[in-house]
Amino acid sequence: MARLSLRGIKKRFKAVEVLHGIDLDVNDRELIVFVGPSGCGKSTLLRLIAGLDPITDGEFLLNDKRMNEVAPSRRGIAMVFQSYALYPHMDVYENMAFGARLMGLSKAEVEARIQEATRMLRLEPLLERKPRELSGGQRQRVAIGRALVRKPQLLLLDEPLSNLDAALRSEVRLEIARLHREIGGTTIYVTHDQVEAMTLADRIVVMNGGRIEQFGSPRELYETPANTFVANFIGSPR
Ligand code: ADP
Ligand code: MG
Repeated sequence: MARLSLRGIKKRFKAVEVLHGIDLDVNDRELIVFVGPSGCGKSTLLRLIAGLDPITDGEFLLNDKRMNEVAPSRRGIAMVFQSYALYPHMDVYENMAFGARLMGLSKAEVEARIQEATRMLRLEPLLERKPRELSGGQRQRVAIGRALVRKPQLLLLDEPLSNLDAALRSEVRLEIARLHREIGGTTIYVTHDQVEAMTLADRIVVMNGGRIEQFGSPRELYETPANTFVANFIGSPR
């Protein structure tokens, strides 16, 4: 279960403010897509939620609990990055086991979680391969598997398809939608691609220049864009 609230979130790097006060409430089990042009602050916001970077100002709540000072490993959040760096010297099984072992889980629990992630992502035939023996799509599935074995209540995906070719992209996108439903948690998916956003999201956060322009369902954004930026970006007929 994961409900999250962002209240007046600001982020400064040195003197430069890149997030100017983000307010957002996400329900449990929603698949939320952050979309917006390159440089608008999507990855920065995701990193603040994951705890990889400190919040300059404002508050982040997960199930009503303030998370600002909570260590990343204690947030129940897993993040899959754009460049899904797998450990090159470990096989697929070891790549998935590594993070789970760091959590202090028993051997049997690690084993059970890997089996489950393996089934969900159809990785059975690949468990003994090294990353260099995998295709881009397979590597990305392993990176997602590695996140899933941590059983996160909140799964963050930062442009997870950007290193894949067009055919694989639609395949992995469907896989992510299916996984989201099967896990039953909350997912935040970041992309700069409007089509991806419109096809995947329960609700979309349209970002621009460190601000939220609009938050709503794909249909709401299309039919009643809040302004010309949203209309142009989503491609609605206004
Ligand atoms: P997006 O993911 O939407 O493409 P980012 O969140 O990566 O955008 O970047 C938002 C803005 O913050 C950009 O102007 C970027 O240059 C700046 N930025 C991101 N990370 C840092 C950093 N570590 N130090 C300084 N500026 C940064
Ligand atoms: Mg980014």
